[in-house]
Amino acid sequence: AARLLAAEWDRFTASTGKSGEHNVRASKSLPLGVTSSFQHWDPYPISIASARGAWLTDVDGRQLLDLSMGFGAMLVGHLNPVVVERVQQALTSTGTLFVTPSPTATEVAERFQKRFGLDMLRFTNSGTESLMYAIRAARAYTRRKAIVKIEGGYHGGYDAMQVSVKPALADIGPGDAPIPDVPFDVEAGTVYVVPYNNLERLGEILAQHGSEIAAVVMEPVIENLAIVLPDEGYLAGVRAACDQHGVLLIFDEVKTGLTAGAAGAAQRLGVKPDLITLAKSIGGGLPLAAFGGTNEVMQVVVDGRMAHFGTYNGNPLVMAAAQAVDDICTEDALDAAEKINVGTLDQIDGIIAEFQLPAHTVSLGVKGCVTWSTTPVRNYRDYKATDFQLAELSWLWGVNRGILTPPGLDEQWLVSLAHAAVEMDTLVEHFRELGQALR
Ligand code: PLP
Repeated sequence: AARLLAAEWDRFTASTGKSGEHNVRASKSLPLGVTSSFQHWDPYPISIASARGAWLTDVDGRQLLDLSMGFGAMLVGHLNPVVVERVQQALTSTGTLFVTPSPTATEVAERFQKRFGLDMLRFTNSGTESLMYAIRAARAYTRRKAIVKIEGGYHGGYDAMQVSVKPALADIGPGDAPIPDVPFDVEAGTVYVVPYNNLERLGEILAQHGSEIAAVVMEPVIENLAIVLPDEGYLAGVRAACDQHGVLLIFDEVKTGLTAGAAGAAQRLGVKPDLITLAKSIGGGLPLAAFGGTNEVMQVVVDGRMAHFGTYNGNPLVMAAAQAVDDICTEDALDAAEKINVGTLDQIDGIIAEFQLPAHTVSLGVKGCVTWSTTPVRNYRDYKATDFQLAELSWLWGVNRGILTPPGLDEQWLVSLAHAAVEMDTLVEHFRELGQALR
């Protein structure tokens, strides 16, 4: 694997010269030459010139099948005609921003109420912002400050969530003391960290500190460690433990959302949180996010226990995109994409078996991944013990052959509504070639 990987990096630099040049130029104005640190990889990332449907064109003129799809934000496909038409219409005839309410935002809120089973919600512009406000709402409602998060979980850039995101195994030791990912730990002492799929440890933390804990924050299915599924009964157990201690449950559905099913992961899995955060898939590529939940908790915004602000919240352009996405993402449309995903996973499972690769597939809805371990991954420490050299080789193998799964090895592919089975066959084909090369 090491030899193949070195050869693949040579191949990468030989075919992406213009991306390399672009990164040199961009690094003079943008740290690392990117606009979000997740866009960066060493020695430099591919720079994209344009996108349409399921395809990208990079600055070297190469066509790439996009399986990253904006980390899930492009669920409806790049330049989806319905999104383009609605946004264009808003841009040319509605206006782009008002300081008082507009019926369009109310109409989208009503659609989201119904779709995601929320009593009330507010719009924001990013997942990070939604997490920040959901946590603030939980704190305002409970009048408690502390938060519990899952070890290895990523929930955006807010300080309270920049704790034990991806710590090195050597740093964490056997306990689960929180490890801040920022040098200035402004939330020191307010965040407890527990392993995913471990009700016993959560129960202990809640028993010891429950009276100071506002909320447990978690992705119902972790999609920032490839994909880690909940054990049978785990989420219901978390719900019950929270209820026992008067602690709110916040499901971060920034990544799951519509990619997990037409009503999101919470409804698919049958566990109702108090608050939910949404972003990415709901906005058709425009910066739309939301937080919402029960009437009782959202009253904190109504009665002034907290305020929620944002100049750009619910602006007509983004709302137009949200309406289009809501129209496009019917149960039938998402089911059809999920069927393509399941077909892809079956074929990849077959290749894993045929070549006896030390790997297995995991999926939820229209997302899937190969995890390089023969045993199931139930939490962050299991995940860190998987074979990252093979994960890197598998990712780069695709990039060099015209398939962009998300940069960073902790992600998953997305079958968007613009992908057809024939496009997913390309992924299968290249995975088979990788299996042969590794034999
Ligand atoms: N929560 C989860 C689970 C995420 O994966 C992300 C981003 O990847 C965020 C929150 C932050 O969202 P944003 O990048 O829109 O701020």
